[in-house]
Amino acid sequence: MTTKTSAQPAIGNAKMIIGGEQVDAADGQTFDVMNPATGEVLARAPLGGPEDVDRAVKAAQAAFEGPWSTWSASKRGRTLQKFSNLVKQNLEELAQLESRNVGKPISGARGEALAVSLVFEYYAGAANKLFGETIPVSRPGLDFTLREPIGVVGLIVPWNFPMNMASWKLGPALAAGNTAILKPASYTPLTAIRLGELALEAGFPPGVVNVITGPGGTAGAALAGHAGVGKVAFTGETTTGQEIMRLAANNVKKISLELGGKSPNIVFADADLERFAAESPLAVFDNAGQDCCARSRIFVEASVHDKVVELFTEATRKVIVGDPSQDATQMGSLISERQRERVIDYIAIGRDEGAELVYGGEAPSGEVFENGAYLMPTIFDAASTEMRIVREEIFGPVVAIIPFSDEADAVRLANDTPYGLSGSIWSRDIGKALRVAKAVKAGVLSVNSNSSVHTEAPFGGYKMSGMGRELGMHALELYTEVKNVFVDLT
Ligand code: NAP
Repeated sequence: MTTKTSAQPAIGNAKMIIGGEQVDAADGQTFDVMNPATGEVLARAPLGGPEDVDRAVKAAQAAFEGPWSTWSASKRGRTLQKFSNLVKQNLEELAQLESRNVGKPISGARGEALAVSLVFEYYAGAANKLFGETIPVSRPGLDFTLREPIGVVGLIVPWNFPMNMASWKLGPALAAGNTAILKPASYTPLTAIRLGELALEAGFPPGVVNVITGPGGTAGAALAGHAGVGKVAFTGETTTGQEIMRLAANNVKKISLELGGKSPNIVFADADLERFAAESPLAVFDNAGQDCCARSRIFVEASVHDKVVELFTEATRKVIVGDPSQDATQMGSLISERQRERVIDYIAIGRDEGAELVYGGEAPSGEVFENGAYLMPTIFDAASTEMRIVREEIFGPVVAIIPFSDEADAVRLANDTPYGLSGSIWSRDIGKALRVAKAVKAGVLSVNSNSSVHTEAPFGGYKMSGMGRELGMHALELYTEVKNVFVDLT
């Protein structure tokens, strides 16, 4: 990350939010925020560092001990509902910001902004439904538990679904009564800042929601290691998650981690193959493949392999790659030229490893694509689980197709990965589909569907895909301490 100066950006100078104030970095440094679909500078944001993190922690600590601590759970819920309403009222602005900053299609960004408002609505309702227990202990007396907020929580999010990842963390953190410091990815700070402004407008007291921008290696690390932060919730790469664990060890912080994935899409011969093919290209190519749930490994029963490759390729040809600002576009640009280069390297690796390139593999041609980080959806066939393109998270629009012989082989191959986030099983035999769903070691599975995310249901990974479950009532466990109280009644 470097400090650069450039012509006045389209959106102007963004500010961090600390203690209810819109502020610059303590040392005044800034960085450019780009539109990866055009290569233009979109905005300039403060290059925050440890000093700014420290300011934010102090503001969040003061807020935690201030009037916020006297708010009833119902009042927190009502304020979250206002927050949700404000997101809906500003939906188009949020969607435009996200689309321009991530290079993602505007139609998808509108859906994501609506999902943010629904997440806040869910936790608005959940705030006063966090119950303790009464427990029949052996001693004579009354034993009960209290669910208490942890205190200051650090929320570190990635660039692929910036505002959604922020909402998954802010919603339960605020419902449970914590104060929060949100650190967006440096590629995509704009919707996080706007959410911080809307939180103030909704009526959260100053210091309850703070937004810090700046490099992960300095600002992010300072937040993850800060002794005044009681918990850090992180979404991002597995290697960064490992570093967060090390930093959090400083003060034995609580942590929840949503990390990488390499999700299987398992297709049995008895499945509705046409439906699988129609619905599955966007299960991997949506968001230009930069999705932790991307179904990037397709396992096909050998007897229908050729037919599935043909149907899936035919359906992929119809994916509209184009200018993210156009309503019809289904796939926009990748997040950066650097990310595109990384994915192109993987495509070369796949060819060298002997996988057969069936479709894509290069940038689309045309004037609209000239300055953006675009790539065509790319399909490899004849792949195997030993190949790097099958083992490593590419985080781009690349899928590998691998044949399997029977149910046991499908399970063995699907589990042959260090990851365990999501996956799909396609079969008309519900017994077989459920056996496979039980046997695949992943946190979020779907049968005859590619749907992984439901606001009301838990989301998270097995193995190196992370720890903890976001969304639903499960997420509230990540943001509360359980206190047991025993009262001697003798
Ligand atoms: P990343 O590089 O790990 O960055 C994620 C966040 O961590 C960013 O805000 C980043 O800041 C910050 N960060 C980087 N180094 C840090 C450090 N040493 N200490 C503290 N914070 C640090 O991930 P990404 O490239 O943005 O996102 C892509 C990854 O996210 C993929 O692996 C994807 O699978 C994963 N993901 C997982 C889920 C899930 O739910 N499982 C959902 C979405 C994405 P900077 O941007 O300033 O570096």
